[in-house]
Amino acid sequence: GTDGTYDYIVVGGGTSGLVVAKRLSEDPKVSVLVVEAGGSLENNANVTNPLGYGLAFGTDIDYAYQTVEQEFAGGKPQTLRAGKGLGGTSTINGLAYTRAESNQIDMWEKLGNEGWNWNNLLPYYTKSERLEVPNPQRLESGKMTFDAAVHGKEGPLKTGWLFGITNSTLGATLNTTFASMGVEWNPEVNGGKMAGYTVYPSTVDQDLNIREDAARAYYFPIRDSAKNLKVMLNTEARRLTWKAAAAANGTKGALPTADGVEVTTQDGKTMVMKANKEVILSAGALVSPLLLEKSGVGNKAILAAAGIQSVVDLPTVGENLQDQANNGLKFGIANNFTETDKNAYVAYPTAEQVFGKDKQVASVNGNVTKAADLEKFFTMQYDLIFGADQPNPIAEVLLYQQDGVWDSEYWGLLPFSRGNLHVTAANTSTTKATGAKINPNFFMLDWDTTQQVGAANFIRRMYGTAPFKDVVGPEDTPSTKTVPADADNNEKAMGDWLKQNYRSNFHPVGTAAMMPREVGGVVDSSLKVYGTANVRVVDASVLPFQVCGHLVSTLYAVSERASDLIKASAK
Ligand code: FAD
Repeated sequence: GTDGTYDYIVVGGGTSGLVVAKRLSEDPKVSVLVVEAGGSLENNANVTNPLGYGLAFGTDIDYAYQTVEQEFAGGKPQTLRAGKGLGGTSTINGLAYTRAESNQIDMWEKLGNEGWNWNNLLPYYTKSERLEVPNPQRLESGKMTFDAAVHGKEGPLKTGWLFGITNSTLGATLNTTFASMGVEWNPEVNGGKMAGYTVYPSTVDQDLNIREDAARAYYFPIRDSAKNLKVMLNTEARRLTWKAAAAANGTKGALPTADGVEVTTQDGKTMVMKANKEVILSAGALVSPLLLEKSGVGNKAILAAAGIQSVVDLPTVGENLQDQANNGLKFGIANNFTETDKNAYVAYPTAEQVFGKDKQVASVNGNVTKAADLEKFFTMQYDLIFGADQPNPIAEVLLYQQDGVWDSEYWGLLPFSRGNLHVTAANTSTTKATGAKINPNFFMLDWDTTQQVGAANFIRRMYGTAPFKDVVGPEDTPSTKTVPADADNNEKAMGDWLKQNYRSNFHPVGTAAMMPREVGGVVDSSLKVYGTANVRVVDASVLPFQVCGHLVSTLYAVSERASDLIKASAK
């Protein structure tokens, strides 16, 4: 690999890319190059501090991509955060380690992705993980429980519980409160059933008390020993290069074959790194589809408008973008309450718990698109929410004290809105906030507002439920003045307020979705891009649907499985 030629080039040394790089380089005969736009964040205190959530926002390691004005949500653009540096977004995220509902992963297979189901993915969740069990005293005082059978003991990624969970009564108080609202204690949120109330684990190295990001888990331990793995930092991938025959587009029989990646180094030099076997795009859900487009893979008309020559006409590249909307409700703290637990109390209520048993929930309004495939996806997602067997939670509700108030950040977990993102010109930098036109279409469909309003009112009820209500002062934000509680006025006022005050939940997925090509997929079940011989995508782009858990646990598992698929196909 010293001459600039490698077997595999991984574009993006982030959460997913570093898993693939480590696993592929386990074969000493194989050479691997990682091209990463950012630098090393090993000693960046905004990254390492496990209680430093938010410190990195707006700094030079946050891409802070801007969306277009959100026409269904008050007209304002949104900021989409993503981490720039080795470790990617795992270096700036909230450390939560929660997986998915098992039937959500099973749905991937029902969509046509053979082999992608919960039972096959669980061994990869555990392969990636090393749960560090706290001592019994900490477990007991923090009311932290787990089932060892679904956790890994020897994987690269350390998980555990943050030290902010101290010797307090708050956990027990919330447990009783949620139980009286029908939201029962869930002793293991990572075993495929998420609904309930729990105290979730985090990606943290408890001994060192620092953030466990992808670089710390998957790269730093092997950087000296893995001589066949090279990482180019501060180097931006611009586009893929193709074997000459493919560029002509239409050579009978042979699919276009990528033979390298054009990069711009820190000092502004442009060069091509060569790949013998495969190029794996792991630049994240907001970038990998753009790199495909800049390389000629995408919607012909969009490419033509941007001055890019078509190599594979694949109109769904960059479509199917799904994010969640995040809102916060704040309440005063009754002045006799001084405990300062942080960061791990979470409730996952179902639709029935949010809306009540008797209330008929308005069915989803599919007026934006009539496409039969989209209707099929909506039906599948509807079944996840309202199905009797295993109803998925529809909201994640956090609770902590901050700046002298109780803060309940929350988000609707399963929105139906779909957006997209596309390049605007052949030469723009995809690492710049202006490099693309990004449109998540927040609140495009009625259900998304219904879900968000329902969760807000659920939170209001929680603050009014004993025993928790005894340590709660008056509502601070939005306040019942701004959003009345009475049924006649609540729904509209709450919906309007939420749309004025939401932010992205920073969970974009789906922009190079793993689905059959006929129903709009971009990659097949081996994560190979349709119409290409040797280009794969391995990152949040490939998740066909949103999951109820936070994303990294599932991305580590998907990347572990993808690595095995890539290895197997090389044999
Ligand atoms: P990334 O990890 O973003 O990796 C992409 C990499 O590609 C980056 O290193 C980037 O620098 C690089 N790159 C981009 N463009 C180029 C280019 N042109 N050339 C070369 N390299 C490039 N998830 C959780 O599980 N728990 C949480 O608590 C949580 N909280 C979050 C909080 C915030 C603020 C954010 C933003 C996200 C959060 N998430 C959380 C989501 C989760 O962190 C991400 O979904 C996940 O890390 C994405 O992984 P990825 O591999 O898809 O992309």
